[in-house]
Amino acid sequence: MTISQQNFALCEQAQGFLSRDVQQLVIDGQRVPAASGQTLTTVNPSTGEVLARLAAGEQADVDRAVLAARKAFHGPWSTWTPYQRQALLTRIAQVLDEKFEELIHIEAMDMGAPVSRLRNTKPALTKMLSFFASQAANISGETLMNGIPGNVTTMTLKAPVGVIGGIIPWNGPLNSQFWIIGAVLASGCTAVLKPSEDASLSVLRVAEILHEAGTPAGVVNVVTGLGKEAGHALAAHPDVDRIAFTGSTETGRRIIEASTVNIKKLQLELGGKSADIVCADADLDKAVPGAAMGVFANSGQICFAGTRVLVQRPIVDEFTERLLAFMKTLRVGHSLDAAATLGPVISQPQLDKVLSYIDVGRDEGAELLCGGQRLEGELENGYFLEPSVFGGVTNEMRIAREEIFGPVLSILPFDDVDEAIAIANDSEYGLGGAVWSQNLSSALRVVHGVHTGTMWVNCYGYIDPLVGFGGTRLSGYGSKGSAAHMDTYLYSKSVYIEL
Ligand code: NAD
Repeated sequence: MTISQQNFALCEQAQGFLSRDVQQLVIDGQRVPAASGQTLTTVNPSTGEVLARLAAGEQADVDRAVLAARKAFHGPWSTWTPYQRQALLTRIAQVLDEKFEELIHIEAMDMGAPVSRLRNTKPALTKMLSFFASQAANISGETLMNGIPGNVTTMTLKAPVGVIGGIIPWNGPLNSQFWIIGAVLASGCTAVLKPSEDASLSVLRVAEILHEAGTPAGVVNVVTGLGKEAGHALAAHPDVDRIAFTGSTETGRRIIEASTVNIKKLQLELGGKSADIVCADADLDKAVPGAAMGVFANSGQICFAGTRVLVQRPIVDEFTERLLAFMKTLRVGHSLDAAATLGPVISQPQLDKVLSYIDVGRDEGAELLCGGQRLEGELENGYFLEPSVFGGVTNEMRIAREEIFGPVLSILPFDDVDEAIAIANDSEYGLGGAVWSQNLSSALRVVHGVHTGTMWVNCYGYIDPLVGFGGTRLSGYGSKGSAAHMDTYLYSKSVYIEL
């Protein structure tokens, strides 16, 4: 693994955006300071330097944004036809396409993912917007049989629920905000978004772009600030109808509690500890890089990362040897370094957390096969960590049970497919998972046996909005993508018509 630190080029438009003195809230189509006048700082994880000052939104700002969203919900926006909303989504896709380089540079500086990796996410964003544009014109209820004597016609209508509170994590806000924005615009709802205090910038810039593309003022508002203040105020707000939340299971619990005030329906996309099962008959040319990048992509900061790599005992040595050779091809670097495959982790607390799990793994008797150190030299001020592999892990160890959310892979040996399924299921989470095998029977046994929201066979990490993605158990509920996604944004109205 080699590293480098140079002066990397930041695109001009991103530079312009980042040079603002304070990044203000976006409420009712205007950039406004927090009512308190307070700000927070946000740091570039590649350098540890302050990147921007954000308005520190609190209750009063959330109240103001919710009011704007409510007003917009009942305003001219409510008369837009599905075709108009569909056309808006198509226009937004075009404007985002034009501004994509600016957005990925802002995102890279803010949350640390290499710009080269972010550039590859463009097709996913385009697909998501096409999907939601199609949903705008596909909202339908039913005409129903009924048992009422006489001439009564019955049907259900689907209607937008109102104001959505969207609470977004830091590990990929450029992409993840569109799971909310897309559905809000497709359904005719309005929204108040609360991005993570560690990575708010792409959400703020996108709010401006939405207005440039013709989204009416007040339809999408953004309140930056701390989770326990702005986030809590949104989750507990009596005039917010539903919450779409992506983040940790611990915060998900707090949001459930806060939302009881008006019994909000929730879409909760939470944490994971996914199992990636490599059978003895797997094609290792595919399985080794597939399993590695199933963990190390985005420096391990992906909810469905396959951090427990279960390897069938006869091939443990060969798999490990090939994995360690693959690790040498990964290049850790500044997010603007075109050659970097992995960036830093998001923050000093996250770095400390990951390093503490390296100690826990060692103390519990796992063998650290590579990595485990913070990077020094040119990258020492950023939050860089060597990608790490533990061998000889058992499923009782904390590193196999708790979400680390960093570049740490654990190898767990197994004897037969039934044991692999049992280990995979011995987890509180149920988000992702994979099986690598050239035997369709073994692969399908694993697919049917593992309790999880998504299973990949001989691949890892595809997410398609047409198919959908969601969790079970402590990984949450509700779907991103598929027709089920719109359930959070619509309610059913039963209608009886007597003629
Ligand atoms: P987090 O839970 O710390 O924060 C997520 C968001 O919630 C942030 O905007 C934060 O400010 C806000 N928040 C914090 N406390 C709050 C409170 N009391 N009330 C309301 N909002 C509050 O998560 P994170 O560290 O930003 O992201 C990492 C986590 O997200 C991991 O657990 C990861 O698995 C999960 N995640 C899940 C998915 C998925 O689709 N299942 C996708 C990405 C990330």
